[in-house]
Amino acid sequence: TARPRSSNFPSRVKVVLRLRPFLASEIEKNGSKPQRCISLLDQEDEEVTVHLKDQWTSRSECYKLDSFFGKEEKISQIFRKEVSTLIPGVFTGVNATVFAYGATGSGKTYTMQGAESEPGLITLAMSMILSIGESMSSSVEISFYEVYLDRCYDLLEPKAKEIMALDDQDGRVQLKGLSWVHVNSMDEFNKAFSTCVQRRKVAHTGLNDVSSRSHAVLSIAVRNSGVKGKLNLIDLAGNEDNRRTCNEGIRLQESAKINQSLFALSKVIYALNNNEKRIPYRESKLTRILQDSLGGRSCTLMIACLNPGSYQEAVHTVSLAARSR
Ligand code: ADP
Ligand code: MG
Repeated sequence: TARPRSSNFPSRVKVVLRLRPFLASEIEKNGSKPQRCISLLDQEDEEVTVHLKDQWTSRSECYKLDSFFGKEEKISQIFRKEVSTLIPGVFTGVNATVFAYGATGSGKTYTMQGAESEPGLITLAMSMILSIGESMSSSVEISFYEVYLDRCYDLLEPKAKEIMALDDQDGRVQLKGLSWVHVNSMDEFNKAFSTCVQRRKVAHTGLNDVSSRSHAVLSIAVRNSGVKGKLNLIDLAGNEDNRRTCNEGIRLQESAKINQSLFALSKVIYALNNNEKRIPYRESKLTRILQDSLGGRSCTLMIACLNPGSYQEAVHTVSLAARSR
């Protein structure tokens, strides 16, 4: 079937791939550079074809997506091409959302938060918003919360206080009492953000590595002369393949919830991209919370992150990503 062109579909969700390099530890463990399971086959204006190949079984498949960012490409290039273009709209009242999607260890947090060697999408977006905001005398506020097992935790509050997600009359979910703080400079933002990140690490002591199994949502709200727009930057929980991970008990329950919410998200994106009448927001907490930022006049970007060495993981991530578009 022919692809709808983006201009006719204002709420079309872009799905791009981000391939991280092999890590020093992976090269060391393998004795040499392991074989990459993914390559770019074809690149057109608005579509790329990627080829996934399993070196052991020679199984292979191809998928089509909107864009591909290889291991040499910096986060700043993803920002320039895919994220910076969303920001002016936020100042005219559009809600925009960027998701980092992929298995644990695929580079979601790195892409969002960056590293010492390069700033992440969060830093780049925040500084662009602050500088436009300054020239337009807009107010800029942030909230930062985590969705774990369908519960929400406000990371701007001490001990990551749980907040209630309540249904309103329109069947949407409101986060009652979620904190918003004003941010006037990168210094102020960095302080608030690093406190939140730290909180996220210690909030679930006793439970191992919750941060990779919860969705972290940073919202940046901009208000100028009565107009309000929002940019959400979301580090999604790692998608796991339960058939392979042998999860049990709480782990299985957790990953069932994660997979359910990621699947629900992909269904919402698919429905939006195919201009369906009924968008299945209600199927997960995450899509209900984000309902005002998915569809309608909003813009969404999904960054599917990949570890170059894991064929099974890549198939799991890319097939779902490709199916959503
Ligand atoms: P995730 O959040 O998806 O679980 P991380 O972002 O924590 O994965 O990345 C896993 C590991 O890979 C980390 O050690 C991170 O520093 C490293 N990494 C991810 N992306 C890159 C990249 N583009 N360049 C260098 N190292 C990366
Ligand atoms: Mg992470």
